[in-house]
Amino acid sequence: MLITFEGIDGSGKSTQIALLKEALAEQGLTARVFREPGGTDVSEMIRGMLLNPELDIDPVTELLLFSSARSQLVAEKLQPLLEENEIVILDRFFDSTTAYQGYGRNSLPIAQIQQINEVATHGIKPDVTFYLQVSPEEAAARTSRFQKDRMEQAGNSFFQKVFHGFEKMAKEYPRFRTIKSADDPKTVHQEILKHLEPLLKE
Ligand code: C5P
Repeated sequence: MLITFEGIDGSGKSTQIALLKEALAEQGLTARVFREPGGTDVSEMIRGMLLNPELDIDPVTELLLFSSARSQLVAEKLQPLLEENEIVILDRFFDSTTAYQGYGRNSLPIAQIQQINEVATHGIKPDVTFYLQVSPEEAAARTSRFQKDRMEQAGNSFFQKVFHGFEKMAKEYPRFRTIKSADDPKTVHQEILKHLEPLLKE
């Protein structure tokens, strides 16, 4: 089973993924967790390039780099694990590319981005996507104390566009579960478990 977490920077994905992994372990289930971009040696090296504030990266190059990191993760980790029926949790997947490089950067028309996503994921789609919904204003307040990576240096209007992209996808795709992330992390976690339990029984 493939579970993905999506949302703008500061939506609380890492906290929720850690809580979910723990809750699954309590039920005797082991989940493998990977972050995007990253999760393999090659993909972590690409992550280093993508987040380096000193590099000036063309939007299409950026799109292809995220996609390359993803393709390596899929081939090296995801496909073998899913074939063994393991539970995999991803901190971002191709929906982030649609939101950030598509709606945010406008690097290419969305239809073309979707084709590139199809190639990079080798056709793999999540069983469920938890979209942690937080307004760009609140997310900015949550992340302002951290040092910003290259992507986070983009202005507010960029994050507004990314947010709009996620909102659009959440309405469009039935696999999306929109979870309001403004509340206390434990409440958010319970909400996620409520959505996941029926799927785990299938
Ligand atoms: O989620 P995480 O903070 O690890 O993501 C690393 C950075 O890469 C973030 O600034 C995120 O906004 C950015 N990113 C992106 N496009 C993606 C995935 C992540 O711009 N497709």
